[in-house]
Amino acid sequence: MKATVRTLFDLALPRECGGCGAVGTLWCSRCEDTVCSAVERVSPRVDPGVPCWALGPYSGPRRSAVLELKERNRHDVAVPLGRALAHAVQKLRLLGEIDPPELSSLVLVPAPTRARAARGRGGDHVERCARAAAAELRHEVVRIPSVLRMRRGVRDSVGLSASERQANVSGRIEMARSYSPGSPGRRYRRRTEIGDIAARVRIPRERTVLLVDDVLTTGATATESVSVLKNSGVRVDGVLVVAAVR
Ligand SMILES: [Zn+2]
Repeated sequence: MKATVRTLFDLALPRECGGCGAVGTLWCSRCEDTVCSAVERVSPRVDPGVPCWALGPYSGPRRSAVLELKERNRHDVAVPLGRALAHAVQKLRLLGEIDPPELSSLVLVPAPTRARAARGRGGDHVERCARAAAAELRHEVVRIPSVLRMRRGVRDSVGLSASERQANVSGRIEMARSYSPGSPGRRYRRRTEIGDIAARVRIPRERTVLLVDDVLTTGATATESVSVLKNSGVRVDGVLVVAAVR
């Protein structure tokens, strides 16, 4: 039944590459090559105090894919973006920037998104990418604790300057109420993943923690997020994003 619905859906909506719009495929090999080809160190104006890496500039298929995912709810695009993030993780390990999995298992913390925006998109698109990255790194255990929350009052940051972006998120990112690095309560036992990170942040040296986001613009959200994680006792090793605005 599911396959039938899918076929009907495909017939109703022509397939278009989420990166370049090419007809006949949801993601073409050229976009795959472009998005998966590199990972580069970037220096946002607001410095989170940890290394920041991007798959490339916010242009071409990276930009199109992020917009498809965020503005057109093309959830399928999270899969190639997650795959590219996974490749970036592997490259960073080869370069010695982060530890290999046998030394330190990976924790990908999705950067927070505004709750209302996430609802409008049918879920958190950054978390979706992180999950796709974890699926790609299938031979290791990757944790994706969605522990960061944006408080009410954070505006859409489009069009804001660096200082306005900083002011917009300052003090408005927090650890989820269900999170505590202390002894897990009843609620945690039901939500094992959050329970896991709650237990694991007490031994942060054994984990490689990367904050993951779609776009790094000024670095304001990343900086506030890293600061909140650090204040909660989580050692952050870096920030990894799909694209960086230059
Ligand atoms: Zn394409």
